[in-house]
Amino acid sequence: MQIVSCPSCGAEVKFRSHASVMAVCEYCNTRVLKDEDAVKDLGKMSSVLEDYSPVQIGTSGVLGGRAFTVIGRIQLRYSAGMWNEWYLLFDDGAASWLGDSSGLYTVTSARGTQPPLPAFEELKAGEMVRVGGERLMVSEVRTAECIGGQGELPFKVGDGWQARVADFRRGSSFLTLDYSDGPEPVVYTGMSVTLEAMQCQLLRDEEQIERSAGRYRGKLTALTCPSCGGAINYLPGQTANLLCPSCHAQIDAASPKAQVLAAGEQVEKVGTTLSLGAEATINKQRYRVIGFMVREDDEGARWTEYLLSGAKAGFTWLVETDDGWWRANVMPAWPEWEKTSADTVSLDKVMYGKLYDYGATVVYAAGAFNWRVQVGDHTRVYEFERGQTRLAAELSGEELTWSRSTRIPADQVHLWFGVPVKNLMRAAPPQKGRYGNAAKKFIMVMLAVNAIPLLVNFGGSLMLNLLGVLAIYLPALFLDSIDKGDPT
Ligand SMILES: [Zn+2]
Ligand SMILES: [Zn+2]
Repeated sequence: MQIVSCPSCGAEVKFRSHASVMAVCEYCNTRVLKDEDAVKDLGKMSSVLEDYSPVQIGTSGVLGGRAFTVIGRIQLRYSAGMWNEWYLLFDDGAASWLGDSSGLYTVTSARGTQPPLPAFEELKAGEMVRVGGERLMVSEVRTAECIGGQGELPFKVGDGWQARVADFRRGSSFLTLDYSDGPEPVVYTGMSVTLEAMQCQLLRDEEQIERSAGRYRGKLTALTCPSCGGAINYLPGQTANLLCPSCHAQIDAASPKAQVLAAGEQVEKVGTTLSLGAEATINKQRYRVIGFMVREDDEGARWTEYLLSGAKAGFTWLVETDDGWWRANVMPAWPEWEKTSADTVSLDKVMYGKLYDYGATVVYAAGAFNWRVQVGDHTRVYEFERGQTRLAAELSGEELTWSRSTRIPADQVHLWFGVPVKNLMRAAPPQKGRYGNAAKKFIMVMLAVNAIPLLVNFGGSLMLNLLGVLAIYLPALFLDSIDKGDPT
C-alpha cells in the first residue's frame, strides 16, 4: 500500500494496488494520478449515483479460492441505462472487474488481444460471430460514458470517458471485446457470479441502501417531477430512468439535477391491477412495484408487465395477461441457441420447443425502470416452452436478453400483495375489449432489455483468471388475474 496526500485537499489517498494508475480522493473527488514519485491533480470527478447495489468499496469475497477486495468503481451510462464496474484486487496482486447491472453480476478479466477480431461497427445483437475460434452470439453492442467514479482505478478515467464494448455469449460463459482504446479490441473473458457464491462480506445492508438510493453522497434531495412538480416516490437508484406517472415526461434521474429528456405525450391513462408503489412480500423479501408498461403484439393483443424492486432482492417482473399471471426473471446464464431461426434451444441439456415469435411494442409506460423505456420501443420476441416454463429471447437492435417465466396462480399474487391489493385489483383492466383474440395470447413474457450483465471493461490491461458462475437475482411474484373480461 502506498499513501499519498491529495494535491487538492491534503487528505490521505491510498493506493493498495501497484496496477492502480489513479485514485479518486474520497473527500474532495479530485482524481489523483500516481506518477513515479509525484502525484498530479487531474481535476474533479463526479460523485457516483447511489444506487441499489449492495457492493461498496471495501467489500471482500472469494472467487475460485482467491480472496479479493473491491478497491474502485466506475459508473457508466449508455442509451438504455447505467451500471457499475467495480475494480477488484486479489490478494495475489491480480485484478478483475465485477460488472454490476440491475442485480446481475459478472466477473471479467483481460486476456490481451487475439486478432483477427471483428470490427465494432460490424457487430449486431443476435448474430453469430466467430471470436478466437469459437462461435458466439452477440448479446450487446454499446457505447457508454463514465458518469462517476470512486477509489482506485487502473487507467486514467474521468467524466465523459467513453467505453465502446460488445458482449458475446454462449451458455453461461461470455466474452467482451473492448474497443475503447481503438479499433483493435482488448479481449475479456468472464462469467456470471453471485455475491452469495463469492461469500461477499461488508456489503451494504437493506437499510443503508434504502436510505441512500437515488441520492448523491451528501445531498438528500427528494425527487419531484421537473416537468409538472408531481412527487415521484419510488426512486431512482439504479433505475435512473423515470416516466412521470402524472405528466409522462421522460426524466433522467442519473444527473445531479433531474432533467426532462422528453415532454410527456398525451396518452390515454391506463388503469392497472397493481398500482405503482404497491408492496409485496415474496419468499420473505420485500418488493415494491416501481414501474409498469403495457405492450402490444403484432395483432393488437396487449398485456401488462410490472417491474418490482426489492432493496435486497433486486428486480423481478410480474406479467399480467388475459391468460393469467406469469413471473419472469432475467436469465444470467443463457440457453444454447444456434441462431435466431432455430426451432429449439437447450438449457442445462433440456430442450425447449419454439412456441412463436412476434414483435412487441410498448404502448404505455409509467414509473421507474432500469433502462430507458419509452412508448414505441419495439423488440422481437422469441418464445420457447417446456411444460410450465417458458424462455423468451428479446432482441432489439443493440441488445439481446433472455428471461425465464413460470405461471403464477392468481391466489398467489393476492397472497404476495396482501389484502390491500384486492381493492387495487378491482380496477378494471384497461384494455378490456381490446384484447381481441384471447386465445393466442398466451403470454408473453418478458422482459426487457437491459439487465443483463454487461460487462464492460474498460481499457486497462490486467490479467486474471476467472471463475464463478451463477446469477443473481430475483424471486418472484404476484397476483391474480381477475376479471380480465372476455375479450371480444
Ligand atoms: Zn482531496
Ligand atoms: Zn410530471
